[in-house]
Amino acid sequence: MIKINNLHKSFGDNQVLKGIDEQINHGEVVSVIGPSGSGKSTFLRCINLLEQPTQGDVLIDGQSITEPGACIDKLRQKVGMVFQNFNLFPHKTVKQNITLAPVKLGVMTAKEADGEAEALLEQVGLQDKADAYPSSLSGGQKQRVAIARALAMKPELMLFDEPTSALDPEMVGDVLDVMKSLAHKGMTMVIVTHEMGFARDVSDRVIFMDGGVIVENSEPEALFSAPKEARTQAFLSKVL
Ligand code: ADP
Ligand code: MG
Repeated sequence: MIKINNLHKSFGDNQVLKGIDEQINHGEVVSVIGPSGSGKSTFLRCINLLEQPTQGDVLIDGQSITEPGACIDKLRQKVGMVFQNFNLFPHKTVKQNITLAPVKLGVMTAKEADGEAEALLEQVGLQDKADAYPSSLSGGQKQRVAIARALAMKPELMLFDEPTSALDPEMVGDVLDVMKSLAHKGMTMVIVTHEMGFARDVSDRVIFMDGGVIVENSEPEALFSAPKEARTQAFLSKVL
């Protein structure tokens, strides 16, 4: 469903992505691991055009997102993103955070969005928080609202950029459980994470990035138990 061809991204003289080729299939769960500064976030941000690639292309369902005239809004609707720092709208209630985009973009009527928000809040275990404001929620609750908000657009693909890195340890499990159940429902997911246990248990495939390239890409068991590349071995020896 996503094909990434020779993706490059530079910021000025800083070459951050140096030719990424990758294909992600429908229903696949792919974790991206690697050291800080290796280009993981930039890679995700290029997939939904939060960053414009310098060279190369990204195809979603066969449609290029980079070619001039591409219908960016339609493509973006297919891709939900969850960030480390939640990015909820502070002056909107939980339910308003979830219904805002689908109603504004004409994906659903206000009434439909309302019903959908309630169903999504139940899915993430926060049905009693519909009228709460983000400031009254814990980090883990905020992140579950952010996931519900992204799902409200009915995306085909969900991107997660270190969704649990800003959370207190006791909040991490609830967020990972929501992600795990999404994965089991067949959602296509790309997850940048430092949660190696989660990557190992839930992913179909793990990508190790370093220095703006994919160094190693394999099934979790193989990557974690028997990494082939010296750089992967060195990284895993520090984090496991
Ligand atoms: P990671 O997520 O693996 O830690 P990033 O993709 O965030 O890595 O960053 C990789 C490199 O790209 C870093 O050197 C960072 O400073 C640079 N970078 C990322 N975003 C920008 C930006 N918007 N402007 C300039 N440099 C950036
Ligand atoms: Mg990052």
